[in-house]
Amino acid sequence: MTYRAPLTDISLALKHATSLAPALGLFGELSIEDIDAIVAEAGRFASEVIAPLNRIGDTYGAVFKDGNVTTAPGWKEAYRAWRSAGWNAVTAPAEWGGQDLPQIVNAACTEMWHAASVAFANGPMLTMAAIDALNAHGSTTLKRTYLSKLVSGEWMGTMQLTEPQAGSDVGALRTRAERAGDGTYRITGQKIFITFGEHDFTDNIIHFVLARLPDAPPGTRGISLFLVPKFFVQADGSLGARNDVRAHSVEHKLGIHGSPTCTMVFGDAGGATGFLIGEENAGMSCMFTMMNRARLAVGLQGVGIAECATQKALSYARERRQGREPGMSSSQSAPIIVHPDVRRMLLTMRALTQAARAICYATALAIDRSERESDEAKRRAAHAQASLLTPVAKAFSTDIANEVASLGIQVHGGMGYIEETGAAQLFRDARIAAIYEGTNGIQAIDLVTRKLPLGDGAAVRAHLEDLRGIVSAFDADNDPGFGWTAVRLGEAVESLARVTAWLIGRLDKEPETALAGATPYLRLFGLASGGCLLAKQALSVKRSGDDSAAALGSARFFAEHLAVAAGALERTVMEGTASVIAADAMLTTA
Ligand SMILES: Cc1cc2nc3c(=O)[nH]c(=O)nc-3n(C[C@H](O)[C@H](O)[C@H](O)COP(=O)(O)OP(=O)(O)OC[C@H]3O[C@@H](n4cnc5c(N)ncnc54)[C@H](O)[C@@H]3O)c2cc1C
Repeated sequence: MTYRAPLTDISLALKHATSLAPALGLFGELSIEDIDAIVAEAGRFASEVIAPLNRIGDTYGAVFKDGNVTTAPGWKEAYRAWRSAGWNAVTAPAEWGGQDLPQIVNAACTEMWHAASVAFANGPMLTMAAIDALNAHGSTTLKRTYLSKLVSGEWMGTMQLTEPQAGSDVGALRTRAERAGDGTYRITGQKIFITFGEHDFTDNIIHFVLARLPDAPPGTRGISLFLVPKFFVQADGSLGARNDVRAHSVEHKLGIHGSPTCTMVFGDAGGATGFLIGEENAGMSCMFTMMNRARLAVGLQGVGIAECATQKALSYARERRQGREPGMSSSQSAPIIVHPDVRRMLLTMRALTQAARAICYATALAIDRSERESDEAKRRAAHAQASLLTPVAKAFSTDIANEVASLGIQVHGGMGYIEETGAAQLFRDARIAAIYEGTNGIQAIDLVTRKLPLGDGAAVRAHLEDLRGIVSAFDADNDPGFGWTAVRLGEAVESLARVTAWLIGRLDKEPETALAGATPYLRLFGLASGGCLLAKQALSVKRSGDDSAAALGSARFFAEHLAVAAGALERTVMEGTASVIAADAMLTTA
């Protein structure tokens, strides 16, 4: 089977898991019906145009020859259709040809585009992130020259941080930028692992490159951001000479084969011309605009892959017949979906996917509020909430994508290990999402060391209060069909509260302990938050009078089967981090 846009689940998450209805007033005339129509059309594009090209992208890859990259057959044409449909422009500013739609609408669309093919959607995703950075920090001249072409998709953007010695430690980068004396800069150096660094989708590629000036302070305080076009743009807007930047090679990878991952060389002939974005040495904060956008989008990649893996596994489990149900004769066989252990796997896949979706959409809505609330204090509170949730959206969703894709193979049995089912491709494609845009380990450290202290802990306290409010509402409803849901979620939230206070108390005195506990803490944060959002969704559907059986089933399964890990994670962080630090000998003698 191929990917089917999960419009019902998406609509439930938008309307019931997040607080979209009360926020609608921030979006002008936009109605729920408009949102449904846009999401349905994006879903149609994902399932009808992108998804059929995912397999050929995997088998053909991206072919590098004489400095050029040829993408898989049909991909260039699909990109042309993408451009014509205006999908690049969903959240872009109207001033530059965009549709100025909310991030939450784009989040739903992004999930589906990535579900259809992460390798394809990766390029446009980075272009959208580049649009945000240029719009927020670029000069008027740079915006006039580049923004409308990026928004329309006529040109694409890249994001260039990584170098051989500078991965997680961006501050170690060595690419040089020298002042040319005419307001431009000469960029020399090498970047590695650059997504869509070279390709045949567009005539021009606009690189967003981090580099260091000769007199810059060390570390991340001495990094500047430059716009480096592949071809210069002449006064009339047409393309001129080629800049001194080229792709040197394309990587052979575990997954996302169709996405060209390039080594880029700047300065074969004296230096590529770069145009400064923002201030000198303030490049990291400009790049953070781009990275935060991309981190949420990578979280949505995780949701998309998990959704696709779940659909495939469900469909297979309904068809594949093995074993018997009680009472069947020995000549009969039952579809494997009847076996409790297979059901457990399928329910886990579905519940994790829905929880990750709810977290990502809640993050997108917090970003919308941070940009659109009329009240300054509300904007600031929403910004803090978005900052808190972004590393969780990225890391929890991509971790569960790996788990769900792996379960997807398990449900298929041996056939899952064979490429033709597509389950194996999802497993391979999912793996990178936990690594790029800042590894999930780095996301956890960001959550603990930078996000927990936000506003002296006010952001995380507000989040905990939101979660407690959901648990109380669920508890008060007192429906016997909820089982242990409210109790288990209440326990998870209180575990989260205790570990949060414990970690904040150690940030200064015992930073190593806080760092050792960061990853299990992020998991606990994701389980408690995801579980509560599913409960909020279920209760809201029930109160709306719609059929709530599926939503309640998911919330209950998540609480009773998955959120119960919260207690163990609490002990892992509060008791187990000591053994991480004490276990040095295990690694040094190995
Ligand atoms: C397919 C692909 C596409 C990519 N696309 C882009 C792109 O478009 N642009 C771009 O700039 N980059 C891109 N990257 C690079 C990617 O962002 C990096 O690989 C990633 O940030 C990790 O850096 P690294 O590979 O050097 O790993 P390292 O930094 O060497 O990390 C190795 C391990 O050590 C851990 N670690 C490192 N430092 C710390 C620390 N301080 N504390 C705790 N743990 C730590 C990491 O979590 C990881 O587990 C891409 C990579 C791939 C594979």
